[in-house]
Amino acid sequence: MPLTNGDVSFEGKAGELVDDRSTHLDPFSIIEHIALLSLDEEFEKLLQRFQLPTVSSVCDLLLCSGAVISGSAALALLFPTAFEPQDLDIYVASYGAARVISYLEEQGYKIDPIYSTGAGKYDNGAVVFRLFHLRSSVDINVVIYHEKHFVDHIIRFHSTIVMNYVSWYGLVCLYPQWTLRKKGLINVDNLISRSCFTKYANRGFALSHDNRQLADSLTTHFCEIDAECPKTTRCLHDDHCAFQPFEGYESRLLAYEGFMTWNLDATCSYAVFPVD
Ligand SMILES: [Zn+2]
Repeated sequence: MPLTNGDVSFEGKAGELVDDRSTHLDPFSIIEHIALLSLDEEFEKLLQRFQLPTVSSVCDLLLCSGAVISGSAALALLFPTAFEPQDLDIYVASYGAARVISYLEEQGYKIDPIYSTGAGKYDNGAVVFRLFHLRSSVDINVVIYHEKHFVDHIIRFHSTIVMNYVSWYGLVCLYPQWTLRKKGLINVDNLISRSCFTKYANRGFALSHDNRQLADSLTTHFCEIDAECPKTTRCLHDDHCAFQPFEGYESRLLAYEGFMTWNLDATCSYAVFPVD
């Protein structure tokens, strides 16, 4: 039976039972709001850095195309004074890609023909178009993912530290219990991701394969239930996500996003080394 909240209905995947542990019917009384002075102001500063116009214009683009901004730029919004992102990554499904690229071209960007045809393949089967600005030295990557939902792409990133996104309704942090303490669990460890680990370590973030190292205490841990267990099935509507809406969009995450669940690939260290 679908879960309901007012006039909004949610259903799990076909044939699946919805897990009530990760669900609540009044999430905005529970979801942790990120302590930003003003997301609208910080987002506007980010857009200005990348020669893009108003917050409302970019949010209209994100709404119409289904695209989100993720990667280092979304993380930088959580830590406005910690670092400046080197590039802006826009993640979009194929149906919205032409609209995003067309919009960026209207703002003075041009597709880099060498990068986009030669190195356009990206992790997890996505295709990347890199666009450079004609009058300044900033780049934007348009990443066309093939997964059904952008969260399915984001949760394959190298670590939880970058599992954040900006949609038209606001900023969402999937692992705030670590990210807001500048910690992250390594999810993918290969030659490419290791160079990213170094970059984030230099920015003051601590990354580890071991979720015990990320916890404040080793005395309690409930596998597959705790927010700090990578084996816990998560949901965009659960109380482990943090959500900072744009002004006036407080209810939009719940209303717009379906009952989307995920699991990380990483293993839980408590299962390997149980606490006595
Ligand atoms: Zn666990």
